[in-house]
Amino acid sequence: MDLSGKHGLVLGVANKRSIAWAIAQKASEAGASLTLTYQGERLEENVRELAATLKTESLVVPCDVTSDEQIASVFTAIDQKFGGLDFVLHGAAFAPKDALSAPFLDTKRDDFRMALDISAYSLVALARGAAPLMSRRGGGSILTLTYLGSERVFPNYNVMAVAKSALECSMRYLASDLGPQNIRVNAISAGPVRTLASAGIPGFTSILQVYRDRAPLRRNVDAQEVADAALFLLGSGSRGITGETMMVDAGFFVMGMDTSKPAASE
Ligand code: NAP
Repeated sequence: MDLSGKHGLVLGVANKRSIAWAIAQKASEAGASLTLTYQGERLEENVRELAATLKTESLVVPCDVTSDEQIASVFTAIDQKFGGLDFVLHGAAFAPKDALSAPFLDTKRDDFRMALDISAYSLVALARGAAPLMSRRGGGSILTLTYLGSERVFPNYNVMAVAKSALECSMRYLASDLGPQNIRVNAISAGPVRTLASAGIPGFTSILQVYRDRAPLRRNVDAQEVADAALFLLGSGSRGITGETMMVDAGFFVMGMDTSKPAASE
């Protein structure tokens, strides 16, 4: 995969375990210069230290995706330093912890609003900001990260599942709007990976075990595998693909029943 001469924006790096960080590293190894964002001062030092280890030029800027002003500043900074943009990796997501552990029925209006704003609407706002910079380069690729909870019920995923449904649907509408500018918009639906965000999901260790037991590959995926698929969707190898949700979950999504144990005799 060759991304030399390309510039990418990566949102969602919290620490070295972040899926967005695995993607940033591989994109940099493939030759892309990168803009990384951090949400709040708490993460700034972390992200700056990680960015300093990249093989290519990087810019680090703040971006809380709930702020239209901060989103606008990111694209102004990219325009000034790099003069255009080729890809965006959207790896930001959030839902209040209580909303993940309480029954879905009890989801509060504010928690619903916050989860959908940060985890889904942010893709729309970012795509709108990225489009003019990508058009100037003749097109681009926007990629987001989602989870199968958008389609099926998983314990303790709750309002985040609703946000992921909205995210995937937004991805398809954006693919339709931006296709005429040769800007592609896709998603990767990753199997469970241990990160800061997933640590907030009660029972996450059991979810990992269920995947290991039932997925056709009989194992979990790791961030490196998600990043390899991401590089494909960010680069020219996927130039004919848009509006797609690609499953990177060791095949778990195809299973209708648990076939890892022999069926009980009748
Ligand atoms: P992560 O390292 O915790 O990354 C999530 C990122 O979102 C963090 O950097 C977080 O910053 C950021 N974020 C939260 N609120 C934000 C805001 N208002 N503005 C900007 N950024 C904000 O966890 P991850 O697992 O790699 O998650 C990356 C993406 O992959 C997410 O969309 C997640 O849903 C998706 N995904 C993860 C898994 C998994 O099992 N890990 C599976 C499928 C899909 P803070 O730390 O400051 O909140």
